[in-house]
Amino acid sequence: MSENYVSLSIVPASDFHLDGGAMFGIVPKPLWTKTHSADALNRIRLTTTSLLWRQRERCVLVDPGIGSAWDETFLDRYGVAVKDSEFSQALEWEGLSYDTITDVFLTHLHFDHVGGCFYLDEGGELRLRFPNAVHHVSRRQWKWANEPSAKDQGSYIKEHLELLASSQCMQFHEGEWSLMSGFDVFEVDGHTRGQQLCRIRMGGRTWVYGGDLFALADHLRIPWVMGYDIEPLKTLTAKETVLEEHLSAGEWLILGHDVNVVAGQVSRAGRYPELVHRITPTACSQLLESGVIEDDI
Ligand SMILES: [Zn+2]
Repeated sequence: MSENYVSLSIVPASDFHLDGGAMFGIVPKPLWTKTHSADALNRIRLTTTSLLWRQRERCVLVDPGIGSAWDETFLDRYGVAVKDSEFSQALEWEGLSYDTITDVFLTHLHFDHVGGCFYLDEGGELRLRFPNAVHHVSRRQWKWANEPSAKDQGSYIKEHLELLASSQCMQFHEGEWSLMSGFDVFEVDGHTRGQQLCRIRMGGRTWVYGGDLFALADHLRIPWVMGYDIEPLKTLTAKETVLEEHLSAGEWLILGHDVNVVAGQVSRAGRYPELVHRITPTACSQLLESGVIEDDI
C-alpha cells in the first residue's frame, strides 16, 4: 500500500428506532410514511452512519454511533440492534483495532452519536472504546452538553461527559478548522449549539457529512426539521447555507441516519432539493472512495 493511500469507508454501527413524528417535526404522518414506515410504537428505523477515514498513520472515525453500553430498558426503548462484532470485524478487515484509532470526530454529543465511544467492562464499568484516540468536538457543543436546556437534556448522558472529561482525551475546536489536509470542518446551529460537520476531499470527489442537519434524505426539504432541534429557524438557515456553500458543485452528501440511502449528489432542479446518483447501503462495511493524497504528489 502506497504511503500516500487514502480511503473513506462506512463502518456498520448500530441500527435503532426513534419516534417518526419527532424526526419530522410539523410534517404530517401521511407525508413522512411515504419513505419511512412506522412500527406499532410510531417509531422509524434509523442507522448510525459511521465513517472511517484513513490517511497514512491517521485513522479517523466520524460519529461511532450509539454503541452497546446500555441497559436492557434503553436497548428496548430505542430498538437498538447492537452490531459490536460487525464493527470490530470491519476494523479488523482494515488491519485496525479499537486501539489503533487515532482520532474520533464527533459532530455533537447526543447519545446516538457519542455512545459508540464507550463500552461496559466485565464489572459493568463504563470505559473508553478508543483509548488512544483524540476525541474532537466543538467548544460550544461541549459547553452546551454540560448545561443543556430542559428540552434536550435527555439527549446527553452525564456519565459519557464525565468519562470524556476525566480521560484527558478531548480536543476542543471553534468555527472552521482542519483536522488534516483534505479534512475540513465547519459549524452549524439549530439542531444543537455548535454541531460540527466535515468536508472530506479525496480522489477528485468531495464528501460532506450531513450529521443531524441532513440526517435523512427527506431533511433536504428545507421545512422538514426534527422536533428535537433546539432552534429550528437556525436549522433552516443552516440548510440553505450548506446547500449553497458546500453542496452546489457536485459534492457528495453523506446522510447521518438514513437506512435507505447512504449518500448522493444534491439536485435542485425540482421543487425540492433531492439526492441523485444515490448510493444504497450494504450489510457490511462499504468503501466510498480511495486514492492517493493529491496535495503531496
Ligand atoms: Zn443529534
